[in-house]
Amino acid sequence: MFVKNISLQHYRNYEKLQLDSFGDVNLLIGQNAQGKTNLLEAIFVLALTKSHRTSKDRELISFEGGSAHLSAVVDKKYGPLTLDLTMSPQGKKAKINGLEQRKLSDFIGALNVVMFAPEDLEIVKGTPGIRRRFLDMEIGQVQPGYLYHLQQYQKVLNQRNNLLKQMWGKDSVKPGMLEIWDQQLVEHGVKIIKKRKQFIIKLQKWAETIHQGITSGGESLKLVYQPSFGDAEEEDEAYLFEQFMLKLSQVKDQEVRRGMTLAGPHRDDMAFFINGKEVHTYGSQGQQRTTALSLKLAEIELIQEEIGEYPVLLLDDVLSELDPYRQTQLIETFQSKVQTFITATGIESLNADKLKNANIYHVHAGQ
Ligand code: ATP
Ligand code: MG
Repeated sequence: MFVKNISLQHYRNYEKLQLDSFGDVNLLIGQNAQGKTNLLEAIFVLALTKSHRTSKDRELISFEGGSAHLSAVVDKKYGPLTLDLTMSPQGKKAKINGLEQRKLSDFIGALNVVMFAPEDLEIVKGTPGIRRRFLDMEIGQVQPGYLYHLQQYQKVLNQRNNLLKQMWGKDSVKPGMLEIWDQQLVEHGVKIIKKRKQFIIKLQKWAETIHQGITSGGESLKLVYQPSFGDAEEEDEAYLFEQFMLKLSQVKDQEVRRGMTLAGPHRDDMAFFINGKEVHTYGSQGQQRTTALSLKLAEIELIQEEIGEYPVLLLDDVLSELDPYRQTQLIETFQSKVQTFITATGIESLNADKLKNANIYHVHAGQ
């Protein structure tokens, strides 16, 4: 797919911006704090209705206030789509071809993007919460139905946790109350676990091949799902249901003491191994970076596999971090298949030879 144009109003430091006729490769060049990342972020928000760097939507609205408006025309295999997203302190409204979407999940996935930014290193180095967020965003993008289960799970989890807090040292809570929440928690939880397992297996396949290419075959990358209970490979829903229930019954006393739910997808993790050694613990800086890059590039292929079209690639400050060989590898892999937006503070740090047909935009103070 291909983003033809974009217009922004009251978005971050863009009071008003209209850009037409994007190319296959688009370079956004400018000094620090001018609005390069903000523009990539806007394209990301049009795909997922959320930022890649904050969960607080109000940060996206201009300091001047009001509501932010983002719109773009995206060319897809079966024709163009006009996307509109309005964000105000009251919430978000999304339209496709002028038609308001009843649920945001109906809007998500009209545009698909893969963003690679310096903070993605945290997917490898950071906490399990960051890896779960990565999984959720990526699965949600190709399977919006996933987000429904995730939302419901979160709701039930909060209610169950509240009940557990009340239960400590009290007999006033009616027996059977916890079991009602257990049932719902497990129902939605099983769907989430199953999708995550399937996603990781597919991502693994692509990431391993891509990583081998980047490291000239010297390293073998493995992704492993680490659920909070049961067998990491098993996908059968009835089996998962039973295992989840069993685990909850085993940890119940501990849950009441600690006032929180101790098993389920909110405690999942995933691990990365290079030649059998965990990258989080033993990987060099370069290996961690290459792992994150392989993951992101794998996502491009995975999205293509799932929806039959390549997503748009957003590279924030990462190209200039790669050595010329890896820059060339990256650009050549996707040239002519994937529309790309690249930010950098200067053109000197980029492999200019490979980018001579790019559109160049100079970004200065929100213009
Ligand atoms: P760098 O090269 O340092 O990454 P950048 O060009 O990517 O810079 P951005 O992150 O796109 O910079 O923009 C940062 C600017 O946007 C900052 O000056 C910040 O104050 C401003 N900004 C962020 N949020 C808002 C907002 N809600 N309203 C107005 N301005 C904002
Ligand atoms: Mg930036």
